[in-house]
Amino acid sequence: MSELAERFETHDPGEKLVAEKIRCDACPVMCYIAAGRTGACDRYGNVAGRIVRMDPLTILDHAAETGAAMVPFVAEGEQWDGELINTGRRFVTAIGAGTTYPDYKPAPFIVSQEVEGVDLVTVVTEGIFSYCGVKVKIDTDRHIGPETAIVRAEGEAIGHVTTGEYGSQMLSLGGVHHLTGGSKGEGRATCDALLNLCNRKPVELSIDGGATVVVEAGKPPVIDGKQEHRMRVGCGSATIGMFATQWRGLVDEVVVVDDHITGVVSEHQAGKVLGWQDTGIKIIGRRSTPGRYFKVSEPGLGWGGTSISDPLSILGEWNAKKGARPGLSLLMVSTTGEQFAYYELDDELKPVQKPFPERLRKSVNLIEENCEPALCTVLFIGGAGGSLRAGVTENPVNLTRSVQGLTTYVTVGGAPVYVWPGGGITLMVDVTRVPEGAFGYVPTPALVAPIEFTLRRDDYVRLGGYEAEIRSVADIVAKGGEYLNPRRGTGAATQNPWPPLAQLRRAGGAG
Ligand code: SF4
Repeated sequence: MSELAERFETHDPGEKLVAEKIRCDACPVMCYIAAGRTGACDRYGNVAGRIVRMDPLTILDHAAETGAAMVPFVAEGEQWDGELINTGRRFVTAIGAGTTYPDYKPAPFIVSQEVEGVDLVTVVTEGIFSYCGVKVKIDTDRHIGPETAIVRAEGEAIGHVTTGEYGSQMLSLGGVHHLTGGSKGEGRATCDALLNLCNRKPVELSIDGGATVVVEAGKPPVIDGKQEHRMRVGCGSATIGMFATQWRGLVDEVVVVDDHITGVVSEHQAGKVLGWQDTGIKIIGRRSTPGRYFKVSEPGLGWGGTSISDPLSILGEWNAKKGARPGLSLLMVSTTGEQFAYYELDDELKPVQKPFPERLRKSVNLIEENCEPALCTVLFIGGAGGSLRAGVTENPVNLTRSVQGLTTYVTVGGAPVYVWPGGGITLMVDVTRVPEGAFGYVPTPALVAPIEFTLRRDDYVRLGGYEAEIRSVADIVAKGGEYLNPRRGTGAATQNPWPPLAQLRRAGGAG
């Protein structure tokens, strides 16, 4: 049983209040927490009779933009001397900020800062996301499972295989139906997997009718125990197009084996343009257009995402009337260049494997060189269009309109997000751009994610913001907030720009 699962099992939100326990009201679970202990989510504890957020509030320093490891610069109760971060380019993230629950309260921190002459406000809160999940991109051609197949963690259904993309398999995990719509075990396993994936930890997923995949954001996938190294250079047809000139004059025929589109150079348009001669080759598969074949095999873990380990199994009889002859040379290669073999036709026009000739090695190496490293990408997707908006403004729909109108810039732990068009605030963020350990959970179950809304101060006041709650960065660093945790600074990642002045200037029409 995972650590998270144990917490679900042992926690009893309805347990009787005893004298030394105090109630945390930062989420609907309402834990009673004994002195020196933490609540069910580990994020809040009872420290000397007060509810304390156990992780420090994270403040990014954009002056250094080093991306360096977190360095504590001030502890609770200490006097901040301003030395390390008094740069005017700081960003108070929601990591460690605490939540607005119950939502009628203003957000834990509403921060003002003048940057390059523009007066900005950032509203900072740790959102509780019941509507959330992750989209996972796994760079591999290998068949990890059919579309719509159930994806499991700890044996529980947590999502499904969705539409594959160019060189990548895609998973859609989590969402409200798995978090809250199934059994308690399903919700727990889903929450556990999402939390670990968002915090960039490895998670083993098994796919019904498919493979077992270990997914870790920013790392290569491990499929059925084997680490993937490269994503394909392109489909078989694209590979022919890219490298046909490299093979010209070195070999009589090239077949690029691919589960989606297998390419044959002598028939392909690229080969024709270069004056390639017919070879009398026969591919067993469905011919789409000249030199491009679908379904040469079933999908699998073999050559080019097919199920084959012997590439000759996709060839039929060679036709002498169409150019086949003894001694004709043939290169067969996969779309990553990882598998390759060289053959020559014998007197019976049967391909016989020969030692791989040096003259072709460069072209195979070129395919490998052009392949990008295979990685797992994890995008957190969550709906921020609900009640957390009330912590930002007294009139929540104003925030939605402001985000949609690009007058409010949304970040997750300082990382830029993509906000889906249409209703609500449905956002996506690459978890590798969010500081490590930024995500948490509550056992309702739901994920907790940092979220910051930045906009011009005049816009904030106009949309009904809590003007009286606005504080300076220096005041927050010095005094902290309601949850009494220390503050710590870290260099901002260089790929996360701050402030988003260009957008906010455009939206405000001045600055
Ligand atoms: S689960 Fe965490 S946030 Fe919720 S009441 Fe318990 S300690 Fe507080």
